[in-house]
Amino acid sequence: MDDGKPVWAPHPTDGFQLGMIVDIGADALTIEPLNQKGKTFLAPMSQVFPAEDDVNKHVDDNCSLMYLNEATLLNNVRVRYNKDHIYTYVANILIAVNPYYDIPKLYGPDAIKSYQGKSLGTLPPHVFAIADKAYRDMKVLKMSQSIIVSGESGAGKTENTKFVLRYLTTTYGSGQDIDERIVEANPLLEAFGNAKTVRNNNSSRFGKFVEIHFNAKNAVVGGFVSHYLLEKSRICMQSNDERNYHIFYRLCAGASEDLKKKLHLDSPDSFRYLNRGCTRYFASKDSDKQIMQNRKSPEHIKTGALKDPLLDDQGDFNRMCVAMKKIGLNDTEKLDLFRVVAGVLHLGNIDFEETGSSSGLHWLVPLKVEQANNARDALAKAVYSRLFDHVVKRVNQCFPFEISSNFIGVLDIAGFEYFEHNSFEQFCINYCNEKLQQFFNERILKEEQELYQKEGLGVNEVHYVDNQDCIDLVEAKLVGILDILDEENRLPQPSDQHFALAVHSKHKDHFRLTVPRKSKLAVHRNLRDDEGFIIRHFAGAVCYETTRFVEKNNDALHMSLESLVCESKDKFVRELFENSNTSKDTKQKAGKLSFISVGNKFKTQLNLLLEKLRSTGSSFIRCVKPNLRMVSHQFEGALILSQLQCSGMVSVLDLMQGGFPSRAPFHELYNMYKQYMPAKLTRLNPRLFCKALFKALGLNDNDFKFGLTRVFFRPGKFAEFDQIMKSDP
Ligand code: ADP
Ligand code: MG
Repeated sequence: MDDGKPVWAPHPTDGFQLGMIVDIGADALTIEPLNQKGKTFLAPMSQVFPAEDDVNKHVDDNCSLMYLNEATLLNNVRVRYNKDHIYTYVANILIAVNPYYDIPKLYGPDAIKSYQGKSLGTLPPHVFAIADKAYRDMKVLKMSQSIIVSGESGAGKTENTKFVLRYLTTTYGSGQDIDERIVEANPLLEAFGNAKTVRNNNSSRFGKFVEIHFNAKNAVVGGFVSHYLLEKSRICMQSNDERNYHIFYRLCAGASEDLKKKLHLDSPDSFRYLNRGCTRYFASKDSDKQIMQNRKSPEHIKTGALKDPLLDDQGDFNRMCVAMKKIGLNDTEKLDLFRVVAGVLHLGNIDFEETGSSSGLHWLVPLKVEQANNARDALAKAVYSRLFDHVVKRVNQCFPFEISSNFIGVLDIAGFEYFEHNSFEQFCINYCNEKLQQFFNERILKEEQELYQKEGLGVNEVHYVDNQDCIDLVEAKLVGILDILDEENRLPQPSDQHFALAVHSKHKDHFRLTVPRKSKLAVHRNLRDDEGFIIRHFAGAVCYETTRFVEKNNDALHMSLESLVCESKDKFVRELFENSNTSKDTKQKAGKLSFISVGNKFKTQLNLLLEKLRSTGSSFIRCVKPNLRMVSHQFEGALILSQLQCSGMVSVLDLMQGGFPSRAPFHELYNMYKQYMPAKLTRLNPRLFCKALFKALGLNDNDFKFGLTRVFFRPGKFAEFDQIMKSDP
C-alpha cells in the first residue's frame, strides 16, 4: 500500500477516512488525513486498506472493484446511497440500505416488469432481481428456494419482504384472488404483531417465514405463513416512548360509535395496558399539531406514544378492515377478533385489593395483590398470543393449498440485538441469529470452498469463525443453557439466581461464556454472577440479565386461569384455548403451575426452519440502517460498517477477492445456448461445447475457470457472458 497513494484508515464516526501513510511502525501506521494536513494519527496495520484510484466511482457489484475490503465496500455503498442507489451486490448477496423515504418509481409497475426473466447483474441491483433469480432457480433446478432477509430493527427487512411477495405474485401470479391475498395478509399480521418502538415506528415483534407455493407450471397457487416468538411482554407493559401492538390503538381510534359502545371502548389513555409506555398523551387535534411542530426538534421523539402523530391509527384501521375483507374474513370473525382485543384491554383494568382476611377470595383465586396482578397479566398475555396464533392460522386458511410443486420462502426475522439491558427475548433472537449465521457461512463460505476443491480449482482458503460451539452452548442436550433453564423451571422453587449460577458452573471455562464482571461496559460489571452471563456471539459479546428468565421461559397458565377461560361463555375464546397444551395429565395437577417451555419450543421451531432452509436453494438480503434518527439522506459510516461486519459480509469479501462466485454446469450451458450455435458444435459433449463456445466468443481467460463438472466465473462475468449470448445470437 505504501506507494504514495491514499489509503482508507479508521474514522470514529465515518467508519473510514482517506489518508496518506507517512510512517510505518512495527504494527501501526502513521496516517495523515487528506483533509487535515499535518495532523497525523496512528492506525493498526490491520485496519488500513488500499483505496480505489477513483473513490467517487461506484459499481453495482462490489466484486468488480479492484480491492475487495471493508473500506471499499463501505465507500461503494456510501457513494451509491448518495445517488439513491440503495441496493448493491456483493456477488449474489444483496445489500439494501433503508432510504427512509419513497424513491420515485423504484418499485413501480415498470420496475416490476423490467426485472422479469433477467439474469442477476444485467440490470441495476434490486430486491426484484433477487426475487426473480429465486423464481428462475426454482424453475430451472426444480427446487424450492428461500430468501433470507436480515438486519437490525428498522433496517428495512419487512419492507423488502413485502416487495419480494408483491413482485412474485404480480409477475408469476395466477391472476386469481390468491395473488392479492398473499399481499393483503400483511396489513392484518402487522396490525396484531407490529408496534411502534424507539427503533422503528412499525416494528415487527415476531419472526415470520412466508412461503409462496407454485404449481407444476410455476404459477402461484398458495401460501403459508409460519411465525416465531411473538413478544409477549409488550402486551402488558411498554418501554418509554414505545407502544403496545397497533391493533389496540386502531380499534380505539377506528371503531364505529356503535362498536365502541358494544365493546365499552374509550380513548387509549383509559387503559392500563396502553398508557404505561408513553410520556405524554395528547387528546385534542390541537395538540397533535403541537406535536407536529415539536417534531422539528429532537424532542418530538419523546412525546405522545399513545396517539402518535407519525401513525394514522384511524386510517390504518380502515385499511386493515379492507385487508380483512379481501382475505375473506366475515363480519362475525372480525367482531370475534375485536371483542378479544377489547377484552384484553378491560382485563388490564382490573384492580385488586387486599381484603385483609386469609379467606379473602378475590376475583381469580386467593392470592396476594401482587400475585393477582401477575396472574391477570399472564392471562392477558396468553389470550393475546393465542389470538395472534389464530390470526396467522386464519390467514393461512385463506390461501388455497392445492397442488404445490415448489415454494419460495421469505424469512423476515429480527437480526442480532444488543441493548443496554438484554433479557430472555434478546437471548432467543441472538441464538436464532447464530443459527442463521451458521447457515450463511455454510452456504456462502463453506460450500463455496468445498466446491472449488471438489472441482479442482486452486483457490486460497478463507478462514471464518465456525460458531457451532456457541450454538452448542445454547442448545446442547442437558448442558445447553436452554436445558439448564428448563431444569430450573421444573424445580419446586425455581429461581433466576440459581439458574444463572448453574450456567456458570456447567461452563466454567467455555470460550464463549463468562461472568458479567468481565464486561467491558460498566453497566454490566455491576451485575453479580447470579444475575447474568455474557455470551461471545459471532457479532460481539452480549451481557444477558437473567432476571425473569424463569418466568419468561414458561408458557403455562395457572390452572385456575386455564379452566376459567375454558369455561368462558364466549365460544371464540373457548376455541382459542381448545388446542392448548393442557393434557389431562397436567389438568390433574390443578392449582399448580405446570410448565411449558418457551425456549425449547423455539429451538424445535428453529431447527425445523433450518432443516427447511437447508433443503432449498438460498439467496440473502442484508438490510442496513443508515442512521438512528430514521431520516433520509444521512449516512453514518461507522454505524453502517459495524452492520456490514456483523452480517458476515466482510468475510465474504475475503472469499470473493480470490474466488469465482458464479458457476454453471456444462450441461446447463449446453442446453441454454445450443439453439444459438451451429449444428456442428452441438454434436460435441457439453464440456467441449463450452470450451469451443468460449473460444469462439473470445472470452478473457482470467474471467473463468473450467472445473470438473462446471464453469466458474469471476464475479459479474457470467451475467456479461449471458448478455452477449442473448443479445447476439
Ligand atoms: P425492519 O423490518 O427491518 O425492522 P422495516 O422494514 O419495518 O424495518 O422498515 C422500517 C421503516 O423504514 C419502514 O416503515 C419505512 O418507513 C422505511 N423503509 C424501509 N425500507 C424502505 C424502502 N425500501 N423505501 C422506503 N422506505 C423504507
Ligand atoms: Mg420488521
